[in-house]
Amino acid sequence: MADRDGKIWKDGALIDWRDATVHVLTHTLHYGMGVFEGVRAYKTDEGTAIFRLREHTQRLFNSAKIFQMTIPYDLETVMAAQREVVRANNLESCYLRPLAWIGSEKMGVSARGNTIHLSIAAWPWGAYLGEEGIAKGIRVKTSSFSRHHVNVSLVRAKACGYYINSILANQEATADGYDEALLLDTDGYVSEGSGENVFIVKNGKIYTPDLASCLDGITRDAVLTMARDLGIEVIEKRITRDEMYCCDEAFFTGTAAEITPIRELDNREIGPGRRGPITEKLQSLFFDVVAGKAPQYKHWLTLV
Ligand code: PMP
Repeated sequence: MADRDGKIWKDGALIDWRDATVHVLTHTLHYGMGVFEGVRAYKTDEGTAIFRLREHTQRLFNSAKIFQMTIPYDLETVMAAQREVVRANNLESCYLRPLAWIGSEKMGVSARGNTIHLSIAAWPWGAYLGEEGIAKGIRVKTSSFSRHHVNVSLVRAKACGYYINSILANQEATADGYDEALLLDTDGYVSEGSGENVFIVKNGKIYTPDLASCLDGITRDAVLTMARDLGIEVIEKRITRDEMYCCDEAFFTGTAAEITPIRELDNREIGPGRRGPITEKLQSLFFDVVAGKAPQYKHWLTLV
């Protein structure tokens, strides 16, 4: 990914893609404390628009606050910079990756004395779990790794180091031939995927785990809002894995994964083993929303 043309915003300026490097003694590289976002921009009739830019940028600042990292720019500047990166790379639709990290002035567990840096890259990225996954659903395996405990990691933050847990889970599931992992919390209840929130549908109602151990996903929030607007009851509660085996439909949500149906969990078909009608309805509305075709959700889009 490093060797390509294009521009990356780094510490206040657009620079050539290949020049956006860091030193090997970068604190974040050694200890994992850095925060980032995943954001998507979509093509609309009025031009390219970023989905929920303010919410993503606010979550980046919240993540930094949780770790006492002071991003040396204000929210508006970071929002403007993301728009600038999409424009500078002439991208019609893309994924954006803002990342704040601790610099290389000083080694040691204490981060004090290091500068905080910020970069923003953007590139085209198709369906994270595949186009076929979006249409037909994916096969998921419950992980042997638990999701973060609230007093071990601070899960309201989207932090670099947390993804070791995600990689372990995803690696294990994909090595066994599944598409993605489902992680349980430390009490054994359903938490989330390695990079997605999870939902189930049962008797026309939608359920999703509360936010104790999973990321406060922005797509999750969009789905909750859209479902309620469609008149579907949504309940946030603890979910067990056997409850999920016996549900009618299940799906993952995320900026990268968008809305991806789950057709199988631990070798048990979910419902009839294909995308269910409520999942399809939400997917179709979601893709209309991001493409600017749903006027009631226009406030979620920021033209670049
Ligand atoms: N959980 C995890 C662990 C994630 O990495 C992501 C992706 N950011 C999500 C959930 C979904 O969050 P969002 O919808 O904000 O992308």
